[in-house]
Amino acid sequence: MEDLFLDKLKNIIESDRIKLKEPMSKHTTLHIGGEADYLVYPSSIQEIKDILLLCKDSNIPYYIMGNGSNLLVSDSGYRGLIIKLGNQFADIEVKEEGLVIAQAGVLMSKLSSVIAEHELTGFEFGAGIPGTLGGAVTMNAGAYGGEIKDCILSATVIDTEGKICTLDKTALQLEYRSSIIQKQNLCLLEAKMKFYKGEKQKILDKIHELNSLRRDKQPLEKYSAGSTFKRPEGYFAGKLISDAGLKGFQIGGAAVSDKHCGFLINKDNASAKDFIKLIGEVIRIVEAKYGVRLEPEVKFLGTFDMD
Ligand SMILES: Cc1cc2nc3c(=O)[nH]c(=O)nc-3n(C[C@H](O)[C@H](O)[C@H](O)COP(=O)(O)OP(=O)(O)OC[C@H]3O[C@@H](n4cnc5c(N)ncnc54)[C@H](O)[C@@H]3O)c2cc1C
Repeated sequence: MEDLFLDKLKNIIESDRIKLKEPMSKHTTLHIGGEADYLVYPSSIQEIKDILLLCKDSNIPYYIMGNGSNLLVSDSGYRGLIIKLGNQFADIEVKEEGLVIAQAGVLMSKLSSVIAEHELTGFEFGAGIPGTLGGAVTMNAGAYGGEIKDCILSATVIDTEGKICTLDKTALQLEYRSSIIQKQNLCLLEAKMKFYKGEKQKILDKIHELNSLRRDKQPLEKYSAGSTFKRPEGYFAGKLISDAGLKGFQIGGAAVSDKHCGFLINKDNASAKDFIKLIGEVIRIVEAKYGVRLEPEVKFLGTFDMD
């Protein structure tokens, strides 16, 4: 049955863009995660569509990922197929009047430098977010006062039935770290954004300034998935965790960062189990002390055995 699936997959996408039993620790910024049965790198909308439909027909679960910078994959990995949208699917078109259309797999850092090169302002916030555009739109990623919601006009998506459609900004339901793409398990193919004429040097200076701020405040030298928790209304997750006395708190190889308590890090060969236990303990202790229940921002993939 599975070989038949693989044969069909090879009719859609070249063999060298199909990985079997792929360790997900190689694909996540946390460097955690067991093997995925299949991982593929499609390079066109048609390939993505055919793969989705094949999975559906064959009853094989699938999951879309970008750069894995907001992902905790379980130690047992993923029984299904991962569609990784990366540099095979990363075209950028800069059009007139500040319109930019980019494919889901482009890295935010690359996109921000192309936008800056064209003397367009409005994407400086995205330069230091270590994910793809697909992940950023799905998460409505944001930083330093900017977010995807501010610059996006529309996005082309494919639904679980293989239907392709374009959703305008309202239909995308972009809210704090959330979108219709997450809620309806859509796959983002490309996004159309609008920027404004600016002075190139000012834009580059802003990017430089924000990146330095990040380096000063965040443990960028450690393996992490960024802020592990969403910002609770009226509070900062990092401050609550620090005030609760959890700076440096460690379970197995997973720890609360000393530098920024909102970042839980893979300090020393952490397993997904260590990491998820640490998340649970941080939530429990902060809630007991302050009555605020932290909610993870990081996405979980696979099954987590908590024995
Ligand atoms: C050091 C560090 C700093 C960070 N700083 C920030 C920050 O300032 N602001 C911020 O918002 N985030 C930040 N993050 C978190 C992360 O980078 C963002 O959430 C980013 O947008 C995730 O993009 P990704 O491509 O890595 O997505 P992934 O981690 O691969 O996936 C994240 C989610 O998006 C979905 N997804 C990805 N691509 C698609 C697609 N094409 N179609 C449908 N669904 C898709 C996945 O299924 C998953 O649910 C940081 C992370 C790190 C490690």
